[in-house]
Formats: sequence, C-alpha cells, structure tokens
Amino acid sequence: LSNVSTWELDRAHALHPWTNFGPFEAKGSMVIERGEGCLLWDTEGRQYFDAVGGMWCTNIGLGRQEMADAIAAQALKLGFSNSFVDNTNDPSARLAGKLASLAPGDLNRVHFTTGGSTAVDTAARMVAFYQTCMGRPDKVQLVAREASYHGSTYLSQSIGKRNGDRVPQFRYKEDGIHHLSAPYLYRAPEGMDEAAFCDHLVAEFEALIDRVGAGNIGGFFAEPIQASGGVIVPPKDYLHRMWQVCRRHDILFIADEVVTAFGRIGHWFASLEEFGVEPDIITCAKGLTSGYIPLGAMIFSDRIWGAMAEDGSRWFTSGFTYSGHPVACAAALKNIEIIEREDLLGNAMRVGALFEERMHALEALPLVGEVRGRKLMICVENVADKATKRLLPDDLDVGTRIADACEAMGLIVRPLGHLNVMSPPLTLTASDVELVGDMLETAIRQVT
Ligand code: PLP
Repeated sequence: LSNVSTWELDRAHALHPWTNFGPFEAKGSMVIERGEGCLLWDTEGRQYFDAVGGMWCTNIGLGRQEMADAIAAQALKLGFSNSFVDNTNDPSARLAGKLASLAPGDLNRVHFTTGGSTAVDTAARMVAFYQTCMGRPDKVQLVAREASYHGSTYLSQSIGKRNGDRVPQFRYKEDGIHHLSAPYLYRAPEGMDEAAFCDHLVAEFEALIDRVGAGNIGGFFAEPIQASGGVIVPPKDYLHRMWQVCRRHDILFIADEVVTAFGRIGHWFASLEEFGVEPDIITCAKGLTSGYIPLGAMIFSDRIWGAMAEDGSRWFTSGFTYSGHPVACAAALKNIEIIEREDLLGNAMRVGALFEERMHALEALPLVGEVRGRKLMICVENVADKATKRLLPDDLDVGTRIADACEAMGLIVRPLGHLNVMSPPLTLTASDVELVGDMLETAIRQVT
C-alpha cells in the first residue's frame, strides 16, 4: 500500500461525511497535509487561507507546539481511563470545574461526550429523565426549529431539520419532536418587520404548547445562531422571549452552543452574554479543544442534578467509553488556557467587528442579498434578484462556484447551497480580514 497515493486509497475505500456521489469521483484532489494558524498546505505544496476554521472549530489555530506537548504528555502519563460510575481522572475533573466556572448561572455540572452530536443526544435523553424525576413522565416531547442542525446520531438528526440532510426513506423520530419556524428574518413573511416577526414566532411556540399541552413538552432545543442552517441570527429579543415561555411552562431550554461557544462570537458562551438567556443545559464541542482532539460536553444545572439525585436510587444510564477521556480533557484545558492568556475572546470581538464590517461591504455586489452573522461567524446569501430575494436555480450551484473560485485563489470558504459561510480562527488579524474580504469579493465578481 505504501506505493499507492493518499488520494487513490481515499477514493477506493473512504466514505466521507456528507458525500455527494455525483462530483465525488470527478473533483480534483486536495489532500491537506499541514496547518499553522489560519493556513493550510496540501500535498502539492499549495497554500490556503482557511476561513472556515476547519469546520467551525479551529479556534486557537493549528500547529500549536504547546497543544502537541500537552497532548503528548497526557498520552504518556495516562492515555486512557474510564469515567464510568465513580471513576475519574485529573484532567476531566479539572475541566469539569473550569467549564462550570465559565458557564452561566448554576450550570455547574458537566457530562463529557465524544462530540456535539452525542452531547445533544444525551441532553435529549436527560430532558426525559429529569421530567420523569419531577413526577412528569409524559413531559418528554421536544421542540426544535426548521433549518437547525444538531448532529448526526439518530436522535440529534431528528431534532435538527435541515431539509437537505433528510433521507426520504428513513423514519426520523418525528412523533415526539415538533419543529417551529426558523427565526430567519431575511425571509420573514412579506410585510413583517423584525418586531412583528418576533411576535409571530413566539406566538407560534405558544400555540404549539396549547395544542400539544405543556404537560407533554419537556425541552426546547436552540442554537443561539443557527450555524449550518445558514448563520441565522434571530430577531432581537427572540431567544429571551422563547426562554421566558419555556420558564412559564417548565420546559427545559437547551442551548446548542457547539459552534457559538469558546469565542466564536466573542464570549465563552453566547447564550447569556449575547442573548440574555440562562439555559438549563448547554451542549458544546468543536472550540472546546479547537478541533485538536474530539470532545464534547453537556453542561447542566444544579437544579437538574438535584432532581435526578434526590431520591438517591436512580441511575443515569448514558455515557461513552471515551467520556472524560484524559487526553481530550488535557487538550481542552490547554486550549482554554491559550484563549485566556492571549485574550482571544477580546481579539474575536475587535477583529470580529472588522470582519463583520468588511463582509457587510459585500452587500454592494449585485449577487449578494444579505451578509449576516456576528463576529467570526458570517454568512453571505447569494440571490438572483436583490429586490425580490429570488434564488438562483439550484443547478447553478452558486455557493460551490464561489467556493471553487476562492479555492483557486488559495482561500477556503464553505458552500452551503446558495450560501457561503465563514468561521475563521479567533487569531484572525486586521490584515487577514482584508485578504479574505478581497479574495471573496473577487470570487463573487467572477461568478456574477
Ligand atoms: N450542534 C451544532 C450546532 C453543530 O453545528 C454540530 C456540528 O456541526 C453538531 C451539533 C454536531 O457536532 P459533531 O459533529 O461534533 O457531532
């Protein structure tokens, strides 16, 4: 096998996440070999600026010697130890304590998972467990939104609802999961301004609760900004008001911060500081280790813990071989230390503001209907007609064409249908902002 190229082996044997079997065979090769900061190099020696940050995740940037050292040292000292029942290890206990200190309100309890999907999946099951402990065994149905992405396990994919993700033949767990409209202001019904749209969305939630019964709904899942659905920033006050509705009806509010946490929009967690919401559960992953090693976490309240632990005889029967993995937790601790020491939250705020400004300037281009997002989480929505917001035909594949034009210039942006999204590392500089802005603008002009 040593004579066979990476590319040939990959095409012959690997099934990638979200494989499109059409272009899969045809597309030219790109095997990424090395990364440093925001830069990547492929095996042909080509350099790319990675404005996607891996997949919303390389927050501190790649190639950090001290991350490699921390991971190597922990792998040597204790490369694995299970966390089942009452076993623990030093990095996982320290990381749990650190996350509790960074999370809002009384979110002082942490359950480690293998990534974002398993954190969401576990949170969904914890909703049912908690409500049952509270003497409400029927209060187990869930509410989420259209255009949300919560992961790729059976349950987390059923909670999410990006239409393109759904396999028509597959029976998603839809019976107990309700989907409200996405808070997609740019495409709000004709004639509705931001405040009216917000009222409409909150009323939709209240009507659902009336119809299904508050006694049957246990939890509401929301990404503070819907990431893979197109960086959908909700109308002002929307999340706060949805949270108030949840509180009135004892519905747990689960903030899926897999993308928005760890500095992506300038805060450790976006829920409270950006949107004024104190969730009952936060799910996170990605920026927790900046992608160096897989790890997810579900951070939940003392109140939930208290209800589950109260009668002293219950078992929470969920967890993974790799929950609390010492090497992953050591990587997360080092990652958080770097974010603190280099004030990367401050940098995300400052340079993120420049990035927002530069990206908004693209709205002057004929193809760009809207630029939206916060700080280092930005989406460009391309349209055929800015006045009517009409979309280009799907087969033009405008997002991919723009991404391909960027790639030819050495810039990686992510195509999502007619959208292009970006989530660069938090180390982004003012000159990087200009570089990315100029290359993206050139690519959009080329495609127009
Ligand atoms: N939740 C959100 C908001 C995400 O964006 C993602 C992944 O992109 C997930 C959950 C799933 O995380 P993972 O891919 O680590 O399982």
